[in-house]
Amino acid sequence: MKPLPEKSRADERASRKNIAMQISPAAERKLRHGHPWLFDQAIRKQSHAGQAGDLAIIFDQKRQFIAAGLYDPYSPIRVRVLQHRHPATINTEWFQKKIQAAFELRTDLPANTNGYRLIHGENDGFPGLVLDQYDKTWVLKIYSASWIPHLVDLLPLWLDFAPQRILLRLSREVTALPEALSTLKDGDSLHGPPLDEVITFLENGITLEADPIHGHKTGFYLDQRENRARVEALSGGADVLNIFAYTGGFSLYAARGGAKTITSVDISQPALDAAARNFTYNQSHPHIRAAQHIPLCGDAFEILSQQVFAKKKYGLVIIDPPSFAKSRAEIQTALRSYQRLTHLGLQVLKPGGVLVQASCSSRIAAEPFFRNLYEAAWQMGVKLREIERTGHPSDHPVGFDEGEYLKCLFAIKE
Ligand code: SAH
Repeated sequence: MKPLPEKSRADERASRKNIAMQISPAAERKLRHGHPWLFDQAIRKQSHAGQAGDLAIIFDQKRQFIAAGLYDPYSPIRVRVLQHRHPATINTEWFQKKIQAAFELRTDLPANTNGYRLIHGENDGFPGLVLDQYDKTWVLKIYSASWIPHLVDLLPLWLDFAPQRILLRLSREVTALPEALSTLKDGDSLHGPPLDEVITFLENGITLEADPIHGHKTGFYLDQRENRARVEALSGGADVLNIFAYTGGFSLYAARGGAKTITSVDISQPALDAAARNFTYNQSHPHIRAAQHIPLCGDAFEILSQQVFAKKKYGLVIIDPPSFAKSRAEIQTALRSYQRLTHLGLQVLKPGGVLVQASCSSRIAAEPFFRNLYEAAWQMGVKLREIERTGHPSDHPVGFDEGEYLKCLFAIKE
């Protein structure tokens, strides 16, 4: 366990002055509508330079309070808003109330599930911070250095819930900051023993592995839990193709749902090795034991093209790629890549089979994504009968436009 270095700086922090700010009219309007981000170019006046984690208080032209948030001199998102509209004292009690509210939202999670998101950033009032639970291990990931000086106050609040271990993950942006900023390192344990192996947890009764230190996100794609359960219900007797399978989350559910074969495609061999281990953990389930799992390592587009050439056919095809549009400039290319995947996916799908296609690009809104997908089907002369379009699960609430990243279509090829 790593002592939080900021402890000794508590007094210093208390004596630090809040930063007073005035901002552009356009940014004022956004903040008044509850948006959680203030970008650097929108700042018109600032009382003093300030440090990461200082409280910034944003006023309008008449010196009326608009919002207060955490200052981050290293990020183009210069202030992440904690408090809108009415002034409030941001202290331990304030954080405690926010944690309580977030935890209360998560009382309706499915049985036999101990892997889920406890705090979903902006959408739970903690902009730039997520907290995920994997059984007795919690994984905290921060996307802004402004949280570092506040961890010393937050940690005891989380320890009240008795996790055995809290690991810290730093986003790429935070890891790149000067060493001097903090002695904290990506992967440190803030509480409990360091992690030297992968951990397992339960999702809807399926044992799955997470690798919080080396894995994607905090180790697993917890946000697809409800879509995986939908796949389980549609997989009976099918040959299932899971493209961009990662550690096989969808594959395991398809197997439990009675799929005959499940082909998991990913470019990462370590991810497919984890998928194979996930199958071994769940051999006590008769359907999972009976199913044949076929991992295929390689580029999704190439493998799909080969399968089209070989005239392979499946009863259910899942396409859940990484985010294709990391910036506005990439949106058009991303939409074309989604269409290529739809074209390829539909060619290996039997008539009457189910297409499950998702996007996790926050830059691409739900409506254009679904329209783009139907257009791709139409170009091929394929009619899709929609089963359902889905969004976020309850532990990944959406509180602002950019927070709505996940969308997924379930449709039958007619
Ligand atoms: N569906 C998964 C999450 C997918 S994340 C789940 O529910 O857990 C995206 C995955 O795509 C990653 O595992 C990554 O290794 C893989 N990937 C990225 N580019 C790829 C490519 N060109 N071909 C195949 N897999 C790719």
